[in-house]
Amino acid sequence: MQSYRVRPGEQVRLSAHDPDSTDGFDGKKKKALAATRELTTRLERLQELLYADHRRSVLIVLQAIDAGGKDGTIRHVFEGVNPQGVRVARFGRPTPEESAHDFLWRVHRQTPEKGEITIFNRSHYEEVLVVRVEKLAPRSTWLRHYRQINDFERSLTEEGTLILKFFLHISFDEQRKRLEARLRDRTKYWKFSSADLPERKRWPAYQRAFEEMLEKTSTPYAPWYVIPANRKWFRNLSVSRILVEALDGLQLKWPPLPADFRSTVVP
Ligand code: AMP
Ligand code: MG
Repeated sequence: MQSYRVRPGEQVRLSAHDPDSTDGFDGKKKKALAATRELTTRLERLQELLYADHRRSVLIVLQAIDAGGKDGTIRHVFEGVNPQGVRVARFGRPTPEESAHDFLWRVHRQTPEKGEITIFNRSHYEEVLVVRVEKLAPRSTWLRHYRQINDFERSLTEEGTLILKFFLHISFDEQRKRLEARLRDRTKYWKFSSADLPERKRWPAYQRAFEEMLEKTSTPYAPWYVIPANRKWFRNLSVSRILVEALDGLQLKWPPLPADFRSTVVP
């Protein structure tokens, strides 16, 4: 899984990352589903431990092109987790109030409390993605935001937040299939947005913006992972694995029984 981690300062060519990869699980979807279920169970336990330990928090950032699978990832990876322990924050077009503040204002207030896991469905990274590609702000503005984002994430990390960032990597062809499904399947009509097609036209510009985001903001303290995401089952497995490994690495502890309870007898 380390191979999906973007090393700080590394040059990223998304064309060199195969979105169809099912690394080690080629033709073994059933095995992958079983492995994912096992990880989901471990995640459920780790989330409870995170809450009990109450010293750390976890921030998961999900970014992808439209139809990249952000919603599906959240639905599947957190399937077994206690809803009280996780929170999802979505970031859409800024409201007038949000636009009147610095770009991190609305983001900072959504960061996780101690013991909590927060998932960002889109994030502050839209500032160097849609804002850049759709030219919603001058270049000088979004350029300085890379550094501000790194500074912000560094301070969150120093205060006890574990940050994991996942870029879900799908191909141009896979996006077409998924957008077509939104027009064909009546349970998916609601997902189709009139902005999806103009954005698809700017695919190369978005890929470039994703590459630069990965190059400039994958840090030792808040790494990016490029997840092959054409196969949803493999995407879910990969994200689950990285998450469980990272939570294991926190060395969380069940709080000991306080001294004054040691001789307590329940009457
Ligand atoms: P969805 O996630 O499909 O509900 O769409 C949310 C929309 O909000 C997407 O089109 C994003 O590009 C857009 N969005 C999110 N953050 C920003 C931002 N900072 N500036 C402009 N548009 C944004
Ligand atoms: Mg959308």
